[in-house]
Amino acid sequence: MKACIYLGPGQLRVEERPVPSPGPGEALIKTRAASLCYSDIRVFKGEKAARPGVVQGHEAAGEVVAVGSGVAAVRPGDRVALCPILACGACYFCLRGKRNRCLGRRTLGYDADGGLAEYILAPRELVALGHLLKLPEGLAWDLAAQTEPFACALYSLEACRLGPGASVAIVGAGPMGLTHLLLARGMGCHTIVVCDPVEERLAVAQELGATAAVSPDHFARTVHALTDGLGADGVAVTVGNTDAIQSGLVVARKQGVVNIFGGCPPGTVLALDPNLVHYNELWVTGTQNANPEHYQRALGVLAVMPQAGRLFTHRFGIQEAPRAFEARLSRQGLKAVIDF
Ligand SMILES: [Zn+2]
Ligand SMILES: [Zn+2]
Repeated sequence: MKACIYLGPGQLRVEERPVPSPGPGEALIKTRAASLCYSDIRVFKGEKAARPGVVQGHEAAGEVVAVGSGVAAVRPGDRVALCPILACGACYFCLRGKRNRCLGRRTLGYDADGGLAEYILAPRELVALGHLLKLPEGLAWDLAAQTEPFACALYSLEACRLGPGASVAIVGAGPMGLTHLLLARGMGCHTIVVCDPVEERLAVAQELGATAAVSPDHFARTVHALTDGLGADGVAVTVGNTDAIQSGLVVARKQGVVNIFGGCPPGTVLALDPNLVHYNELWVTGTQNANPEHYQRALGVLAVMPQAGRLFTHRFGIQEAPRAFEARLSRQGLKAVIDF
């Protein structure tokens, strides 16, 4: 089988590897669609760690083709999406259902082989945790591969404590910012302001239902103008840099929530005006990945949200997977899908 292997920062190679055969508790999945995430790019840039030699990719969906002994949760023929988290199931966080914060967490695509390959061997823990999620009937493979990013954005909006009628400001109109927008619209948020320096991205944000999509210079003014001067109830910062976070902090209303969703390069330090947080009683929080319940709900959302396909701007075969990284590095388009 062909697999896209991470060799080290700046180095990727599509290699031929033997098709794995599932041992006890494992399941073999024929990959049908996978997509790239900005965190894959961060690994490529050396900002985020992954094991050299690993198959990258944590956004994937496919068909179970074989299972090892003792597997009852899935059967050959099942269509599944991945929750790529390998959790111990027994630590402080796992016992509270917070598998994304498992103290022994490993993740497919970083520590164990992921989805940028023609077959995925689902490890025993993944199968046992129920992290092969069965797809709703009729859900297309490429949309099913978006279960992970949609779960992450759902968790982020939940952290922002948003509901129907709320106002939300989204920093960044890349795939994750636009995913926040789609979900915020879907959950009935009233005012949604998206900010990004790239004009084509703002046009997509507008098309997908943003109340306003503006460049960073106009962000604060627009949010205040559309919220009677209050600021947004919740702010999701989907870009990993300090300017983005600063711009998010000043558009939240008093007692609003600012969620730092995007990871920053190591060593980043934010100059924070403590009085901004103190006098405005801001809640500044962070979310990373999501929990199984978010994955489950993300699948339900995707089944009724075909417009999520608007995020796909590039399609490649597995042989061309490194080109998908190049497209993303040069900020061309939005989401790159690998079709199998
Ligand atoms: Zn992702
Ligand atoms: Zn754990």
